[in-house]
Amino acid sequence: MADGDIEQERARLKAAEGQQRILSDVSRVLLDYVGADEVEPLRRIVQKTTEALGDWCAFSLVQPDGTLKNVAAYHPDPRQRELEKKLNALVPPQQWDAGPREFNALALRRAVAIEDITDDMLRLSQPSEEVYQLYKELGMTSAVVAPMFDGERPLGTFALVSTTAANTGANTGARRYTANDLDFVEALAGRAALAVRNARLVRELGEERDRQQVARTALEQRAAELSAVFNSNPNGIALFDAAGILQLASPRLEEIFGLEISRMVGQPWQEIYRRKLSQAVSGNREQLFNRIAELFGDRTARGVDDLELERPTHRFVNRTTVPVRGPDGTYLGRLVVYTDVTEQRELDRQRSDFLTVAAHELRTPLTPLSMYLQSIERRLVRQQPVELEMVVKAQRQVGRLSKLVEDLLDVSRLESRRMQIARDRLDLNDLADSVVADFRSHSRNHEIVFHRQKEAVRIDGDRQRLEQVLVNLLQNAIKYSPLGGQVVVRVERLAGEGRFSVTDPGIGIPVEEQPRLFQRFFRAANATTRNYGGLGIGLFVSDEIVRSHGGRFEVESAVGKGSTFTFYLPLSSEAGAVRTRARVLLVDDDPEILEATGQVLREWGYAVDEARDGLTALSLARGTRPDLMLVDLMMPVMDGATLIEQLREEQVAPGVPVVVFSADRDTRDQAKRLAADASLRKPFELQELQDVMERLLPQHSAT
Ligand code: ADP
Repeated sequence: MADGDIEQERARLKAAEGQQRILSDVSRVLLDYVGADEVEPLRRIVQKTTEALGDWCAFSLVQPDGTLKNVAAYHPDPRQRELEKKLNALVPPQQWDAGPREFNALALRRAVAIEDITDDMLRLSQPSEEVYQLYKELGMTSAVVAPMFDGERPLGTFALVSTTAANTGANTGARRYTANDLDFVEALAGRAALAVRNARLVRELGEERDRQQVARTALEQRAAELSAVFNSNPNGIALFDAAGILQLASPRLEEIFGLEISRMVGQPWQEIYRRKLSQAVSGNREQLFNRIAELFGDRTARGVDDLELERPTHRFVNRTTVPVRGPDGTYLGRLVVYTDVTEQRELDRQRSDFLTVAAHELRTPLTPLSMYLQSIERRLVRQQPVELEMVVKAQRQVGRLSKLVEDLLDVSRLESRRMQIARDRLDLNDLADSVVADFRSHSRNHEIVFHRQKEAVRIDGDRQRLEQVLVNLLQNAIKYSPLGGQVVVRVERLAGEGRFSVTDPGIGIPVEEQPRLFQRFFRAANATTRNYGGLGIGLFVSDEIVRSHGGRFEVESAVGKGSTFTFYLPLSSEAGAVRTRARVLLVDDDPEILEATGQVLREWGYAVDEARDGLTALSLARGTRPDLMLVDLMMPVMDGATLIEQLREEQVAPGVPVVVFSADRDTRDQAKRLAADASLRKPFELQELQDVMERLLPQHSAT
C-alpha cells in the first residue's frame, strides 16, 4: 500500500470513528429527551453534530400543507448563520417533492451525496439572482442529505453541508462529502426520525389524555345534572337492569312506599316487590305480584295501571312501566315510574260531588218557585185574586236562587282573581249591628246575642264583602245548630286588630276535618251525612275576603258541643290616608244596561248611583256629588245632551268627568260636541269601560 493510500485509509478510519462517536452521542441525547416537542431533539442533534464536524447541519420537516420547513439548523460561524437567516427569509417554502429529482433525497427515498456543488446546480435550483448571490457567499461546496420517514410517510430531511467560507477552522479546505458518508447520515436521520415520531406520540398521547379528561368532565357534569333531575322528580322512579336487579331508586319512591328502597339497590325485583307489597297493601298481594311478574317476564311489555296503597298513607298511584333499550335496540332493563294521583283523584271526587250538590241546591228553591208560579197562573186563569204573600214567597225563592248563583260566581271570580275589594273606613260594630238585626228578624229558633264594646273598631274594607262574611258565619251558626239555642256574636278591639267571632251550640266539626274547612267545596262529613244543604263555598269565599283585607281566620270546635268561627282584621291606621270609594252616577233608560253596568262598577269597588232619565240624574248629581258621570245620550224625559248642558249651566258637579255612551255610530263626534271627557259606543267591552274609568279616576281606580 502506498504512503498516500495509508494516509487516506487512516483518515477514513478516523472519520468513521468520529461519525460513530457522533451517532452514539446522538443516541444518548435522544434517550435523555422525553417530551412532546418534536423540534427539541432535532436542535440537540444539530448542536452535537456541528460541534463535532464544524459543518453546517440542518433539519427540515414536512408540514401539514406538504411544504418542507427548516426547523433546526446551526453553523458554528456566526456570519454563516446571518446569511442563512437571510436565505430563510427570502426563499419561500417549497413542496417536499419540488426541485430536481436527482438531488431530492425524500423523492428518491435514499440519502444523496453531492460531492461538488457547482455553480450550475445553484443556478438550477435558485432562479432569483439575490438568492444565488447569497448561496455564492455561503460558499457551499459539498453536501449529504438523508430522508426521514414515518413508515411510508415522508417526514423530513437531514442535511450536512460543508462551506468554504472563512472561519471554518485552520483552512484545511472544506470537507468533501462522498458516498462513504451516506450510511452515517442515514443512520443519523433514522435516529432523528425516531425522535420526531416519539415526540409526536407523546404529544398525541397528551392530547388524547386531555380529550379523555374533557369527555370525563362532561360525563361527570351530565351525571350530576341527571341526578338532580332524578332526585327532584315528583314521580317515584325505579330502574332495573336486564337481569331484573334494581339499579336506581328516586327519593320520591321512598316517600310513596315508606321504604328505604335505595338501600335495596342490587336486589332482584322479586325481593323488592314482595317488600313493597307487604308494606303498602293488605289484600290481593298475590294478584298484584303476578301483574308485575308478567311485566318483568316480557321484555317488550309496557303498561300503565292504577294502584291503591294503604300505607304509609292512603294513596292512589299511577304506575307506568316501559322497557329501556340501548341505541342498538338491546334490552337494558325496565323503568317503573309511580305518579301520585291522590290529590287529582280527590279533586275529581270533589268536583263531581260538588256538581251533584250544586244541582240539588239549585233545584231546592226551583221546586217551590215553580209551584208558586203555577198556582199564581191558575188563579189568574180562573180570575181569582192572587195573594201578595204568594208573590212574596215566590220572590224569596228567587232570592235564594240568586244568592246561590252569586256564591258560585264568587268562586269563579276568586279563581280568576277578579274579586275587587273597596277600601272604605268602616266600623266593625256597625257592620255587625246591621247584620245581626237582619238575622234577628228572621230566626225564630235561635237567640242571637251581640257583645260589643263602646269604642269603634275601625277598619278599612269593603262593606258589601265583609257583610257577606258575617252573613255566611251567622247562616252557618244557625244552619248547623239544628236544635236552636243561643248564637253569640262578638266584636272586640285588640291591639292593632279587630276581632269578630260567632259562637254556636251546634253539631261541631271533628278536629281532623277542621284544617280543610276553608277549602273550596269542602263539606265536613257530619254536614253531608246529616243532609244539611250547602255548597261548601261560604267559608272558602269568606276566608278569601278576610285574607284580601290582610286578616285571618280561626276555628275552635268540638263535635256535639258547638263551634266558634273568628276572624281578625287589621285596624285602620288613623294617620293613614283614607281611601274612599269613588261615586259614579250612571244614567241610562235601559234597566238591564243600568243593572249590568252598575253591578260591574260596584264589583270594581265604585259606589254607584243609578238614574233612568236626565231629570232624576240631575237631582241625584246635586245631592250625591259624583266623581264621574256615565251618561246615555238617548233617553226619554230629558236626553243626555240636555242633561250635560243643564249640569254645566247650573254648575252642578263642576269639573267632574263625563263619559257619554250611545249605540249611535257618531257617539264619538257627539261626545266631542258636548265636550265630554270620553265616549263609549254600545255594546262596549268591559276592558274599554275599565280603561276609561282608570284614566279618568286614577286615584280611585279599583284595586
Ligand atoms: P256549606 O255550609 O254551604 O256547606 P261552608 O263553606 O259555609 O259551606 O262550610 C263548609 C263546611 O264547614 C260545612 O259543610 C260544614 O261541614 C262545616 N261548617 C261550617 N260552619 C259550621 C258550623 N257552624 N258548625 C258545624 N260545621 C260547620
